[in-house]
Amino acid sequence: MAEKKIYDYIFTGFGASTCILLREMDIKGLLKNKKSLIIDPNTKNENDKTFCFWARKTDDIYNEYQDIISNEWSKIQISDYQAKSIAPLFYFHIKSIDLYDSAKKVIKKNNIISKIDSVSKINESKITEVIVGSKKYLGYKIIDCRTINMKYLIEEKIIYQSFIGFKVKLKAKNFDSNKFNLMDFRVEQKEGTQFVYTLPYSNDTGLVELTRFADNIIERKNSELILDKYIKNHFGEYDLLKKEIGLIPMSTKKFSNINSKNIIELGTRAGNIKPSTGYGFKKMYNHSKSICNNAVEKSSITTKKKFQLYDELLLIILNKWPKYGKDIFLKLFKHSDYKLILKFLDEKTNLRDDIKIFSKLQISLFLKSLLIWCFLKTKKIIIPSLLIILTLLPSYSEKVVLLNNNQIVFMSLGLLLIGIPHGALDYYSGFFNSSKKLTISFILLYLLLMIPIFILWVLNPSLSLVFFILFSSWHFGQTDMRYWNIKSPVLTLLWGLTIFIYIFSNHIDEFEEILKLIDVSDNINITILTSISTILLAGTTFISIYKRKLTWFLLCLFLYLSYSLSLVYTFGLYFIFHHSVIGWYDIKKNLNLSHLKMYLKAVPFNLGAIFIYLIFTSIINKNTSEHISWFFVFLSCISFPHIISMNFFYTKNYK
Ligand SMILES: Cc1cc2nc3c(=O)[nH]c(=O)nc-3n(C[C@H](O)[C@H](O)[C@H](O)COP(=O)(O)OP(=O)(O)OC[C@H]3O[C@@H](n4cnc5c(N)ncnc54)[C@H](O)[C@@H]3O)c2cc1C
Repeated sequence: MAEKKIYDYIFTGFGASTCILLREMDIKGLLKNKKSLIIDPNTKNENDKTFCFWARKTDDIYNEYQDIISNEWSKIQISDYQAKSIAPLFYFHIKSIDLYDSAKKVIKKNNIISKIDSVSKINESKITEVIVGSKKYLGYKIIDCRTINMKYLIEEKIIYQSFIGFKVKLKAKNFDSNKFNLMDFRVEQKEGTQFVYTLPYSNDTGLVELTRFADNIIERKNSELILDKYIKNHFGEYDLLKKEIGLIPMSTKKFSNINSKNIIELGTRAGNIKPSTGYGFKKMYNHSKSICNNAVEKSSITTKKKFQLYDELLLIILNKWPKYGKDIFLKLFKHSDYKLILKFLDEKTNLRDDIKIFSKLQISLFLKSLLIWCFLKTKKIIIPSLLIILTLLPSYSEKVVLLNNNQIVFMSLGLLLIGIPHGALDYYSGFFNSSKKLTISFILLYLLLMIPIFILWVLNPSLSLVFFILFSSWHFGQTDMRYWNIKSPVLTLLWGLTIFIYIFSNHIDEFEEILKLIDVSDNINITILTSISTILLAGTTFISIYKRKLTWFLLCLFLYLSYSLSLVYTFGLYFIFHHSVIGWYDIKKNLNLSHLKMYLKAVPFNLGAIFIYLIFTSIINKNTSEHISWFFVFLSCISFPHIISMNFFYTKNYK
């Protein structure tokens, strides 16, 4: 049911970032005479978080948040090192409840409607629709801070900062409220890089948190035991007043793909959390300023590339060699000025400062991490680059009607290791088969879907060929567009058709020969086919540049150069080493399986396919055109259920 009313602003989520933005919009008078709505399932009546940041007392952020700052410290301690002053900086503390309450005053003052509900979907368009159960709200501007989907975080295999904290009252006045301990590593490091963060609010009350940087999330029972032991060892007996738990994703990856200028993302969604530290308050504050400076327009806080690189290097180390995390942080604070480190974390240091800091750290570890970083950044272009190189290798690019001996070995290996296995998991990837077992009924369903295609080949080969090209184009395009994160059915089909039509027109003699073999009339207008294929490839090359997709551009280059290869070889290279590899990794990532497990699960289907393949190749060696045509028919029949299965897989898992 849609409300007729169109809101000027709909805030989806009443998180910390929304509160900061609401305060800023109120100061700038941007909420006056506007119809606004806030939707969040949480009433925000609890003090569920603490927000800390460092600043000078002359900074705007201090002046604007002075009303809700509840504590401040001027000295930082690291482990058992001597505490050091950070003057003129202070470390400020805000209770989340004070932030929420201050934003609620803004809500009341500006007559903003508040709904305790959960947004299920936002449909991008000129007037955006916000779906809440069966209700639909319309808005000109949507301001979105909803929590990131956990499924996405798991899929991306990112590192988390997870923590569990005790707000305590000590029996003895053992806290020193002038200093706080940012990182105390005197706790076990088995599960990842772990430390205790202590914020003393007075001599006997404070927050003590066990924090972990790792790809696994802190578990409650064991962490509580560690915390209890730590507090008793360092501060004596205590009463537990409250517990705080938290999870912050540590990643430089983009958390969303929304392109609409009417949807403004905030907070964690907008990448405002510093990946290597989990601090976000100041970034959210700066983001709110830049949004309001443009009269509530989309704007992003850009992080300098070098700081993004530093963050990524540290995250690689924490991920691959977590046992070194403690040493890195201890060395950092032992040998560098604390104010310089805070400036570095604020992303305000120059290259000289950076070198000064890095020279004190384990250089070899950062160089190793840099090598991995280089591999991760270039891995997407390795396969298309190899395909291009193959077009230039004479022994592999020799042009024959089918395949030469080298190519037969190469293609057969590729087909057995990647091409066939990538399609052998259809029964496991959930296609009409929730049992995830290779059952008789699944095999029958698969065969049943092959039958209409077979009948069509017998009755009308020309129509079958058109149909085969269309559904295969969709499938190739769908896999690639998912890979490039592009959600466009038009581009999906356009790119798939480009692959087929360009390869056919670029190898017109062989194409005509194959048409003869499969009994399709070959009265093709070569000029028209060549013109269409040239336009298609030129167009998609242009789009690949426009969309800044290097792998796509390299694949276009491969197609241009493929005239030096045979048709079957060109198609095989693309199918095995690009398409099948991506499909295989998509299934792997989604089902969270190792390569070995996937191969094992693919065994039954593989054996069947390999058996048929071996029988077939032994027949092809006799080189009878009839058998080649039957192979083609078989290929198109078995592709059909696979394509339906993968379409189901992609629509279900990559909405
Ligand atoms: C415990 C904790 C302590 C932190 N301490 C600090 C700190 O000291 N300093 C610092 O700089 N940063 C800190 N951070 C990091 C960061 O500042 C916070 O995570 C901050 O809350 C991020 O703001 P946000 O608006 O992106 O998300 P959140 O504040 O988490 O808000 C997300 C909102 O979306 C709502 N929501 C979720 N699903 C839906 C839905 N379907 N429909 C509508 N609403 C939905 C949620 O209810 C929630 O209100 C801390 C983070 C945590 C978790």
